[in-house]
Amino acid sequence: DELRGEVAPNKLPRQVPGYHYSRIDPTPVRDPHLLAWADDLAAYLGLSCPSERGPAVDALAGNLVTDSMKPFAARYGGHQFGNWAGQLGDGRAISLGEVKATDGSNWEIQLKGAGPTPYSRRADGRAVLRSSLREFLCSEAMHYLGVPTTRALSLVATGDEVVRDMFYDGNARPEPGAIVARVAPTFVRFGSFQILTSLGEIDNLRTLADYIIRQYYPELGAPSPEVYLRWFEEVSRRTAVMVAHWMSVGFVHGVMNTDNMSILGLTIDYGPYGWLEPYDPDWTPNTTDFGSRRYAFGQQTNVALWNLFQLARTLTPLVTTDVQELNKGLDVYRTTLAETQQYMMLRKLGLTAQNGDEDRALLDSLTDALAETQVDMTIFFRQLSHAAYRLLSATDHAIQPLFDELWSAASYPELGTEQEALQHWFGRYAARLRQETVGAEAVRDDMLGVNPKYVLRNYLAQQAIEAAETGDVSVLNRLMDVLKTPYAEQPEHDDLAAKRPAWASTKPGCATL
Ligand code: AMP
Ligand code: MG
Ligand code: MG
Repeated sequence: DELRGEVAPNKLPRQVPGYHYSRIDPTPVRDPHLLAWADDLAAYLGLSCPSERGPAVDALAGNLVTDSMKPFAARYGGHQFGNWAGQLGDGRAISLGEVKATDGSNWEIQLKGAGPTPYSRRADGRAVLRSSLREFLCSEAMHYLGVPTTRALSLVATGDEVVRDMFYDGNARPEPGAIVARVAPTFVRFGSFQILTSLGEIDNLRTLADYIIRQYYPELGAPSPEVYLRWFEEVSRRTAVMVAHWMSVGFVHGVMNTDNMSILGLTIDYGPYGWLEPYDPDWTPNTTDFGSRRYAFGQQTNVALWNLFQLARTLTPLVTTDVQELNKGLDVYRTTLAETQQYMMLRKLGLTAQNGDEDRALLDSLTDALAETQVDMTIFFRQLSHAAYRLLSATDHAIQPLFDELWSAASYPELGTEQEALQHWFGRYAARLRQETVGAEAVRDDMLGVNPKYVLRNYLAQQAIEAAETGDVSVLNRLMDVLKTPYAEQPEHDDLAAKRPAWASTKPGCATL
C-alpha cells in the first residue's frame, strides 16, 4: 500500500458515483512531530497535550490508525467561481471518526494533508506548513472572536517535503509539510448535496438530508417535505449570521465556492483568507481572484445568497409541494443578514437602536467614508471605543482633537487618502452618540467587547510562518495566546495590534495551497 512514490489502487483518483464517502486510510509520513496544540479545545474534547513525538502525534499525522477509527474521505461537488465543477471531494482531508466531548456532544476529527484519496484528482493530497499553520491559527482566532467556525486541534509537522508552486515567482520549491487536525460536528457542505442531485441520486440526497436533520437539526422534528423547507430556512439563517460576523470583523474568506459552505453555517476551509487592514470592499486576499474579485470583502453577502440559491435548487427534488416555498429561505437570509448586520454595526458604534432610518443612514455613510479613506478597520473601531468614552464624559467635549487622534492612529499615509469624508461622519456620530442615555464608561466597555484589538493580520501570520519554517514556534504560540482574548487590552502585546507595516503592503499575500 505505501510503496514510496506509488499510490495504492484504492487511492487512485476516480469518480465515485452512488456513494457519500470512500473508506480510505491516511498515508504515513516520515517523522511526525507536534508543532502546536489547541489546549482549550483539547480540554473540552477530553484530550491531554501529547509529547512532541509518540502514538498520539502519530495518530494526528495519520501514521497510526487505531481499531476504533474508520477513516474516510467525503464525496462532494461544487460551484467554483460560479461554474459547476462536478465531483471535488476530500482530496487531501481524511476524517478519522468522531470523539465524544466532555459535554457528551460528538465531534468529527479530520486530518488535512493526510495523503491521496479518490478525490485528489491531479494533486498530491498533502499540505504545506504555511497553509496548515494559517488554518490552525485562523480557525481558533475566529472561535475566540465569537465567529461560528470549525476548530483546529493540532498542527503536526510531517518531516516530509512538499513541492508547491509559489505564486509570486512561479518557481516550484520544496517546503516543509504539515497536517492540521480540524474539528467540527460535521464537515458536510452545500456541495455534498449538489453532487447527488446533479447525478440524479435522489435517494442518496434524501438519505443525507435526513441524516443531517436528525443529527444536527433535531429541533425541526422528523424529516418530511415540510421539514426540509424549515431546515433550508435554518441553514439560510445560520449562513446570514456567519457572514454578518465576517463583515463585522473584516474577515475575507477568499474562496466561497459552494463546496466551502458548511451545512451548519460554520466558517469552513481556511485557504487564501485574509483580514481587511485598509478598509477596501474590493480587497481580496485570493490572488487567483484578482481579475473578477468575486470573493472580495464587499461581495461576501451577495455570494452567500448565490450559494444558498444553488443549495435551494439542489433540494428541490425533496420538496413535493410548491418549490417556490424554498424562496422563503432566501428571504430569511436577506432579513436575518440585514437585521444582524445592523445590530452588530450599531453595537460596534456603542449605539442602541432608536430611529431605524436615521441609524441606517449613519451606518451607510460610515461604510462609504471608510471605503473612501481606507483607514485600518480594526484600529478604527477599537479607537472609536475610546473616542466615544471621551465624547460622552463631561470633562472632554472637543471633537476635533479626538478625530485627529483617530485619524493618526488608523490612517495609512502612504495611501494618500483625504480625511474629509470620515471627519464629517465623525461629527454626525458625535451628535448621535450624545443622544444615548447610558454612561460613558458603560458605552466604552460594551464597544471594547465587540471591537477586537487583535485579529490575525496577514503579516502576523506571515511572521509566524517564517519562524516556524526555521523550527521556531514561539512566534506562533505567542500569537495564538494573544488571539485567545482578542477583546482584552493586553498592553504588553501592543505590537501585535499594530497597523500593517510598509514592508507587508508590498509583499503579496499567502498562496492558497
Ligand atoms: P479548496 O479550494 O481548498 O476548496 O479545494 C478544492 C478541491 O481541491 C477540493 O476537492 C480539495 O480536496 C482539492 N485539493 C486542494 N488541494 C489539494 C491537494 N494538495 N491534494 C489533493 N486535493 C486537493
Ligand atoms: Mg475546500
Ligand atoms: Mg482549501
